[in-house]
Amino acid sequence: MQKIPANYHTHTFRCGHAAGEDRDYVENAVSAGFSTLGFSDHSPMVYKTDHVSRVRMKLSQTQDYTDSLMQLKAEYRDRIDVQIGLEAEFFPDSFREYRAFIADYPIRYLILGQHFLWREEDGIFAFRPTEDEQLLTQYCKNILAGLDTGVFSYVAHPDLMNFVGSDRAYARVMRPFVRELKNYGVPLEINRLGLIDERHYPRRIFWEMAAEQGLKAVIGVDAHAPAALLDEEGVDACVRFAHSCGVEVVTDVDLDRLTKYSSNV
Ligand SMILES: [Zn+2]
Ligand SMILES: [Zn+2]
Repeated sequence: MQKIPANYHTHTFRCGHAAGEDRDYVENAVSAGFSTLGFSDHSPMVYKTDHVSRVRMKLSQTQDYTDSLMQLKAEYRDRIDVQIGLEAEFFPDSFREYRAFIADYPIRYLILGQHFLWREEDGIFAFRPTEDEQLLTQYCKNILAGLDTGVFSYVAHPDLMNFVGSDRAYARVMRPFVRELKNYGVPLEINRLGLIDERHYPRRIFWEMAAEQGLKAVIGVDAHAPAALLDEEGVDACVRFAHSCGVEVVTDVDLDRLTKYSSNV
C-alpha cells in the first residue's frame, strides 16, 4: 500500500465541532509516522454583515491558534514538520479583506474548503441535498473563482456538493468542471472523513472523471479529533479508492502559493 507521509487537513477545537488539544494531534501524527502535519482549521471568515458563524473559529481566535501551533512547531521540530494553514472558503464579496486579515499571522497555506455557495449568511449549504443542476454548476463556478486567486494549495473535497439527481446529470455538469480543474495544476483531495463516515463524498463518478483527465489526488485525513490521525486503515481505504478509480495519489503539495500569489489581492 502506498504510504502517505503528510496530512494537511487537520482541525482544532476552535472551530467548535472538533475536539482535543492541539498537542494531542501532533503526538498522534508522530505516533502514526507522519513526517508532516499541516493544521488547517476552519478559517475565521470576514463578513460584510454581523453574521456569527457556528462552524469556524472567530477572528479573535486566530492569534491563539497561530501562537499555539508555532509553539508546537518549535517544540516538535526534530520529530515532525508542523505546518500552519487554514481551510478557507472563497467568498468573493470579502476575500480581499480576508486576505488582508490573515496577512498579519504566520499562516503558510490555504486549502479551499467550499461549504457554501456564494456566501455563508444567505448562501446555500453544500451538504443540503439538491437535484438542481444550476446549483451544482454554481458550486463549480465558486471553486474555479477561488482557484483563480492562485492562493489555494489544494481543493478539499471538491465533490462536496450533495447532488442527488441522476449520475447522468451530475456528469453533464462535472465533466467540464473537471476538465477546467486540470488547468490549475493543484491537487484535489480525497477526504478520509467522508469516506469512513459513508457520506455522499468522495463520489466515485467524480473521481473516475478526474482520472480520465489525469488529475491527481491528495489524501486528507480531515481530523476533527486527535484519534483520526491514527486511522491508518481510513487513509489506506482512501488510497485504495483512488487507485480503484484510476487516480494517481501524490504527496507533495505546494504550500507556498499563498506567499507567491500575495500580490493577487
Ligand atoms: Zn469541520
Ligand atoms: Zn475540514
